[in-house]
Amino acid sequence: MNLEEKSTAELQMLDSRHYLHPFTDPKALLEKGARVITRADGIYLWDSDGEKILDAMAGLWCVNVGYGREVLSRIAYEQSQELPYYNSFFKTTHPPAIALAKKLIEITPEGFNQVFYTNSGSEANDTVMRTVRRYWRLLEKPEKRIIISRKGAYHGSTVAAASLSGDSLYHEMDGLPIPDIVHIDCPYWYGKGGDLTPDEFGLKSAQSLDSKIKELGPEKVAAFIGEPIQGAGGLIVPPDTYWPEIQRICEKYGILLISDEVICGFGRTGNWFGCETYGIRPDLMSIAKGLSSGYMPIGGVLIHDRIMDVLIEKGGEYAHGFTYSGHPVACAVALENIKIMEEENLVDKVANETGPYLKKRWEELENHPLVGQVRNVGMLGAIELVENKDKRKFFSSSKKVGDTCRDFCFENNFVMRAIHDTMIVSPALTMTVEQIDEMFDLVKLCLDLTADKFGIS
Ligand SMILES: *Cc1c(COP(=O)(O)O)cnc(C)c1O
Repeated sequence: MNLEEKSTAELQMLDSRHYLHPFTDPKALLEKGARVITRADGIYLWDSDGEKILDAMAGLWCVNVGYGREVLSRIAYEQSQELPYYNSFFKTTHPPAIALAKKLIEITPEGFNQVFYTNSGSEANDTVMRTVRRYWRLLEKPEKRIIISRKGAYHGSTVAAASLSGDSLYHEMDGLPIPDIVHIDCPYWYGKGGDLTPDEFGLKSAQSLDSKIKELGPEKVAAFIGEPIQGAGGLIVPPDTYWPEIQRICEKYGILLISDEVICGFGRTGNWFGCETYGIRPDLMSIAKGLSSGYMPIGGVLIHDRIMDVLIEKGGEYAHGFTYSGHPVACAVALENIKIMEEENLVDKVANETGPYLKKRWEELENHPLVGQVRNVGMLGAIELVENKDKRKFFSSSKKVGDTCRDFCFENNFVMRAIHDTMIVSPALTMTVEQIDEMFDLVKLCLDLTADKFGIS
């Protein structure tokens, strides 16, 4: 069957009948088909009707070097020809897995000298959970099992990762979370900070970790996990006081600190890793997404010497792994992706040029009648839509204001994500200043259309 000869309507019909989509209502999909994306280049997508779309989300926060990188296709081809697959179980390895590991330890903070490979961020967080518990068992503290996460967290969609995630949407699907996972509030100052200053609220919010550890008993708590900036939970940028206090509390009680770098890693925040932006010293880091810019499915866990020393000294088999752990083609592509980032100085560019420019443009939106707050770090931007900005009054969720704005984006060939009533961009790190202007004009247009529709002026 040659799909290229099919009309959009035929493709949509086949799609909704036979393809169960992630995070989609299958009934709604049958009624209104999906947009069919056929091609991409730079920051643009094209659909099956030939429409050109500006993708301000870099796919799902992942295409950090932009689409259409010929060298990444070539590397994938060449590696497939040379060695398309071999595993690294049972005392075997291959050059691409070694080369990527070496590169990763060069760019990660000091003390990270080992990587475990997965195929995704979810598997990375499953691996984190198993590793943390193994660590405490090896230290003869098997009762230390509880992992504290946060409401609004997104750590993935496997049973363990969905349990670590902090939204009832994921939990209600199948009766999660699994035992020994606990959630505390997240540092969402604009929504929950009331009359406190951001700094006061950051401290207060971090101290809820202290209370939770006391309540559970420190002898039962294994680790705390957090994204430096919560992504899918609405781009929650923590006040500056938050992470230092979290770090202090973890050290005080001797519990491990895990940085989920799946979004914040690989330049997104203007450093290689989000933990560097916030001065966090994690014990483990989960990575995926920007690791390969989405060109291949690959993730991993970076393990600090503090943890690795115990795994080595106490010994015994690390009884965990995936058929495709360290897949040679994925490793080769990820390595080349990091080389592109280095050659084009993308991390510097985000820190010193495009990140600050994005922030400057975003701040112009603070005068918009629909906008309560804007948030930026590096190439991340959020716009919180409110009913009354002077009174910090939110819309009732039944109005679906964010979804409406997203629909306007869709109609205008623009991809901006809606998380409740917060609009998010996370564009390719290659986006130029001129392209930021182009994106900004679309943002402005869609906000104006939304304000009109809800009679906000
Ligand atoms: C996307 C994401 C994950 C899950 O990664 P998958 O590759 O979709 O399994 C985990 N953590 C964070 C912070 C993410 O954004």
